[in-house]
Amino acid sequence: MAKPEMREPIESGCPDGFQYMHPTMRRNFGLWDFHEDTQPGVMVHVAKGGDKVWTVKAGTQRILDVFTLRDLLDIADEFADGYIRFTIRSNIEFYTDTEAKVQPLVDALKEKGYAVGGTRNSVASISHTQGWLHCDIPGTDASGVVKSMMDELYDEFTNWNMPNRVHITTSCCQINCGGQGDIAINVQHTKPPKIDHSLVGNVCERPSVVARCPVAAIRPAMVDGQPSLEVDEKKCICCGACYPPCPPMQINDHEFTQLAVWIGGNHSNARGKPTFQRLVAAGIPNNPPRWPEATAIVKKILDCYKEGARDWERINEWVERIGWPRFFEVTGLPFTKYHIDNWRGARANLNSSTHIRF
Ligand code: SF4
Ligand code: SF4
Repeated sequence: MAKPEMREPIESGCPDGFQYMHPTMRRNFGLWDFHEDTQPGVMVHVAKGGDKVWTVKAGTQRILDVFTLRDLLDIADEFADGYIRFTIRSNIEFYTDTEAKVQPLVDALKEKGYAVGGTRNSVASISHTQGWLHCDIPGTDASGVVKSMMDELYDEFTNWNMPNRVHITTSCCQINCGGQGDIAINVQHTKPPKIDHSLVGNVCERPSVVARCPVAAIRPAMVDGQPSLEVDEKKCICCGACYPPCPPMQINDHEFTQLAVWIGGNHSNARGKPTFQRLVAAGIPNNPPRWPEATAIVKKILDCYKEGARDWERINEWVERIGWPRFFEVTGLPFTKYHIDNWRGARANLNSSTHIRF
């Protein structure tokens, strides 16, 4: 029997990035020697053969309207070489291999109101998820939190005035793609979900919801003769995981859905071990449209870090050096019982590490 002819795979993933690269970058792939930061928001990469590519970085509001996008692309065509890239922190980077184009490009961006910066020892754009647009469980408008905070951190973005780079993240729910960073602003639910029993029977797949709870706090129940669910509130850790598969288990609340600030998370193992972030402020009002309470706390932490850290210390390294009691002293943040992990499963939780055993 003839060997069946294999069909060609259909590629539907990410397109090949090389086709969008600046030609000088393509030519020097794998041949870069070093890079330098020439001014806030501007870097030059130098190849072993002497080719150079300048990168100019500007902040954006992330959720771009088509007019802003066209504006930015016109700038790329007129002042750079027509090549751009969006970073994971919603910055736009323009590329050129002509030094004479750099300053006019920076000036054109500033003239149109775009902030140029976010490199080296500055506060980079805050990364965030955006549940309101595409997800089913957001507890806050993460983009709004970011916009309010970056408005307040304009100088820290456009200047090199921090001890080292600062990565800030936000998330719009408590359990999924929330970030880990030098500072993280995450949603915190503080009450168990309220169940609308009249809807559960028709809307929820009850076995899936029961299976979803990480602490087995949900049980099937008959309520008023209808199939429904019940929550053991003593076990519930208010994570919000039951709400996506079962919207009648509403957990969002204008008062009890709050924000928390965590600090010191670091993925890098360049100079020290990667570190987990730790809770430093909880119960912060989820207060749109400007979130002033959360912004004030983040600014206070940044001011103390700027004041007290040594050159090139990241936030986690600064706190490790001065100690956590001193951190709470200098920032004036209250240390409360909510900072202590007293969850009944914490013992098993901590024992999951090979380093700490109880
Ligand atoms: S953080 Fe949560 S709500 Fe926001 S996009 Fe991710 S999963 Fe959805
Ligand atoms: S909020 Fe989380 S812990 Fe509480 S019942 Fe729902 S899934 Fe379980």
